[in-house]
Amino acid sequence: MINTNKVIKEHGLKLTKSLGQNFLTDINIIKKIVEAGEVSSFDLVLEIGPGIGSMTAEIAKCAGKVIAVEIDKNLIPALNENLGMFSNVSVVNQDIMKTDIKELIKDWTGPLKVISNLPYYITTPIIMMLLETDIAWDTLVFMVQKEVALRLAATPSTKNYSAISLAVRYYSDPKLAFTVSRNCFIPKPDVDSAVVKLKKRDLECVADISKELFFKIVRASFSQRRKTLLNSLGSQGWLKGGKERLRDVLCKLGIKEAVRAEELDIEDFASLCRELEK
Ligand code: SAM
Repeated sequence: MINTNKVIKEHGLKLTKSLGQNFLTDINIIKKIVEAGEVSSFDLVLEIGPGIGSMTAEIAKCAGKVIAVEIDKNLIPALNENLGMFSNVSVVNQDIMKTDIKELIKDWTGPLKVISNLPYYITTPIIMMLLETDIAWDTLVFMVQKEVALRLAATPSTKNYSAISLAVRYYSDPKLAFTVSRNCFIPKPDVDSAVVKLKKRDLECVADISKELFFKIVRASFSQRRKTLLNSLGSQGWLKGGKERLRDVLCKLGIKEAVRAEELDIEDFASLCRELEK
C-alpha cells in the first residue's frame, strides 16, 4: 500500500480542496471498491482521478489495462513513480469532462469498467456524462458522498427517491455497496461516503418512448416534490391538454389521482410518457 503521508511529504504536494482531493488511506476499503467492480484481466478500467495512485495500483493487479485520468499536473510525477512497476497502466493528465474517452479506449475489445473515488465538486456531471454517453461501459463503481449514493440507488416511495434515481435506473441496475467513514481519508472530509455499483442494462419498458420526453416528465414531476403529480406535472405549460388530460391518463393507467412522483417507478413513468406522447 502506498503511504499517502510519505508521498505527500516527499513530493511536497499541496492538496487542492477545490479539486476534491481527499485521498483514501485504508487499504481494506480500496480492496473492497476494486472487488465491487469484479475486475478481471479481460477488463479495461478507466479510473477517474487517481490522485497518487493508491487505488490504481490495486486495480492494476486485477485488470487487463488501466487508464487513469488525472486533472492535476502536480500529481503526475508521484503517480508515475508509484505506478512505474505496472506495465498495464497509462496515466493521462486531463480533465475527464474534456477527455475523448472513445479515443482513449478505442483499441480495447473487452468490457469497459469505470472505477472512481469521485471528486465531490463534480459528481453529478461526471455520472450523467457516463450514463448518457454511447460508450459501451459494463459497470460503473463510484465512491460519492453518502447522501448522493442514497439518492442514486433509491427505490420508489423512499425519501431519497428523486429524478436522479430514475436517470440511474433508466441506464443501469444500481446497488448501494457499502458506506465509508470520513476517517478513511486524508484530509478528512466533512461527510461520510458510500460506494455504489451501477451495472449496465437495457430496459425494455423505455425502448419505444422518447427519451427526451421521458426526462422532461420526470424532471417536471419531481420539481415540486410535495405536490401531487397532477399539480406538478399538470401545471407545465408544455403539457398538451394540461391537468384534465393528465387526470384521464392517470385514470386509464389505473394510477390514483392523488399520486406523488416519488410513488411511481420507472415502468409507471414509461407508461405515462407513452400515453402523453400520443
Ligand atoms: N483516487 C484517489 C484516492 O481514492 O485516493 C483520489 C481521489 S480524490 C477524491 C479525486 C481525484 O480526482 C483527485 O486526485 C483530483 O485531482 C481528481 N480530479 C478532480 N477533478 C477532476 C477532473 N475533472 N478530471 C480528472 N480528475 C479530476
